[in-house]
Amino acid sequence: MGSESNIKLLDENGIRLDGRTPEQLRPIKIETNLLERADGSAYIEWGGNKIMVAVYGPREAYPKHTQDIEKAVVKARYNMAAFSVDERKRPGPDRRSVEISKVISEALSSAIMVEQFPRAQIDVFIEVMQADAGTRIAGLTAASVAVASAGIPMRDMVVGCTAGKVEGKVVLDLSKEEDNFGQADLPIAVLSKSKRIVLIQMDGDLSLEEFEQASGMIMKATDNIAEIQRNALINRYSVESIGDGE
Ligand code: ADP
Repeated sequence: MGSESNIKLLDENGIRLDGRTPEQLRPIKIETNLLERADGSAYIEWGGNKIMVAVYGPREAYPKHTQDIEKAVVKARYNMAAFSVDERKRPGPDRRSVEISKVISEALSSAIMVEQFPRAQIDVFIEVMQADAGTRIAGLTAASVAVASAGIPMRDMVVGCTAGKVEGKVVLDLSKEEDNFGQADLPIAVLSKSKRIVLIQMDGDLSLEEFEQASGMIMKATDNIAEIQRNALINRYSVESIGDGE
């Protein structure tokens, strides 16, 4: 973010390097239940991001001191595979992945009916196999589908998107180049029906006006992404019912 470059991110018509208009999303595809051992799972491709999410639980929280007598604890673990980026990433947790795991856990806790499962834990493993900017939001959006596919009661789905600023213009869903060489990156996730914000972070700087424009674009985009989430879950159930009796 913010590093100066000679790369031109927008052409004279405001079109981006990958051919998108300022308010256009990258292609998004979500599938559920690809993993047999997990209680729920989802796979998302969002632009060049490829992320698998596995959910286990609710089950008794362990170690015991992590139990909450009033509600389930959501333990999300975000991990980037060594081969997910251009240069091999050092395996294992780092400050960034610990932070992302924490904000994703909190966002999911707002959506899951955690009060129904005192002393339990819900594990959410987010494995980034290919990273292309916006992985925390893509991971969280897929995690919400994976939790729903596990049959865990939720009051709402979590859905997110990023926006940012490149060459002085506000654009939706930053690509890798835009993230690297742009002036701001604003990931936001909301509860899809109520639009309550459950995750918001920012790199770089935006004026209040730009912030309002960026967050407005994100809010609009979340309706489309929520539709993709719903379709992924509907497909799963329709496939299951076709399989019945076979
Ligand atoms: P997000 O993926 O949520 O946008 P960041 O803004 O921190 O999170 O990262 C932006 C992008 O930078 C990532 O999607 C990934 O493509 C790349 N990236 C992050 N960490 C590393 C790393 N350790 N090595 C190489 N590339 C990385």
